[in-house]
Amino acid sequence: MQAVVHYSLHFVFPALVAYVFFRDSWQKTYLIFLATMLVDLDHLLANPIFQPDRCSIGFHPLHSFYVIPFYIALLFCKKPYRLIGIGLMLHIFTDFIDCLMTFAHCHSCMGESILGRMME
Ligand SMILES: [Zn+2]
Repeated sequence: MQAVVHYSLHFVFPALVAYVFFRDSWQKTYLIFLATMLVDLDHLLANPIFQPDRCSIGFHPLHSFYVIPFYIALLFCKKPYRLIGIGLMLHIFTDFIDCLMTFAHCHSCMGESILGRMME
């Protein structure tokens, strides 16, 4: 269930946003949104690279609270930077929902996560 939500938010939701708000160039916009998924390359720096119940927000460098304000700032720039900002924020939002779903079934994950500790 969590995986279904996660992948549809990562792939289907950005397509909807692109189609609804940028209809005349939605394919190009969608590609830019998909390209922002490259921020997940920061997971390769982690050890282990994949850990199912780890909340990526506040953990990985490109998901840290130091870079999120920069993503928000992109929203106020011109295209294509604004589109990159939207894609990045959709991504962070998706990962955030993922963290909430993880915390709902794994209380210790909440204590291990910066985001979780901020919410406690
Ligand atoms: Zn991510």
